[in-house]
Amino acid sequence: MSDFVIEPHPRPAVAVEGGGLFPVRRLYCIGRNYADHAIEMGHDPSREAPFFFQKNPDSIDLSGEFPYPPETGDVHFEIELVVALGRGGRDIPEAEALDHVWGYGVGLDMTRRDLQGAAKKAGRPWEIGKAFDRAAPMSPLVPTARSGHPASGRIALAVNGETRQDGDLDQMIWKVPEMIAYLSRYFELTAGDLIMTGTPAGVGAAARGDVLSGSVEGVGKIDVRVV
Ligand code: MN
Repeated sequence: MSDFVIEPHPRPAVAVEGGGLFPVRRLYCIGRNYADHAIEMGHDPSREAPFFFQKNPDSIDLSGEFPYPPETGDVHFEIELVVALGRGGRDIPEAEALDHVWGYGVGLDMTRRDLQGAAKKAGRPWEIGKAFDRAAPMSPLVPTARSGHPASGRIALAVNGETRQDGDLDQMIWKVPEMIAYLSRYFELTAGDLIMTGTPAGVGAAARGDVLSGSVEGVGKIDVRVV
């Protein structure tokens, strides 16, 4: 028996390499965290304070298919390292931040760029461009016991075999411990929170039929077909 008055929805989760599921609470994303991507989007790459937005946890998609979303003619791929927290807290010191990480994964921050652009221009929130259904395809997570804490390594994405994004984790403006420390000043973080850590240059439009193949060295790969 339960007190729920309708059937409770399924808990969002990400697969774990080798088996199991990691239950997801929140999905934080940092904006403009690689200088070359900030420049390609027309922004100053200097180290201004970081900013974050959220995607809906139930937009995480493990299917390997990305249905072309409605009400856009310009959906973009953004390959990102995903950080999965196994411990939470408030005001987490940078020096202790990595102790809160359970593992890492590879994700796509799919973006309705036309809708995001219109929202930016109007000073409106980004959800319509960023938080739509199935907007966060993700690979299985790898526990830190296997991945360590990758601070450098290639992060890349190919479309139909042609490399379009090719960067290195060491190009992040705000590093993983800094992101965790900063977020924890504004939100109480908990186990189950994910952070998408930004994308290098080379973002672009995806079309139906495209195969997006992303990878982060030492962490994993993701292959998604746009349908
Ligand atoms: Mn992004």
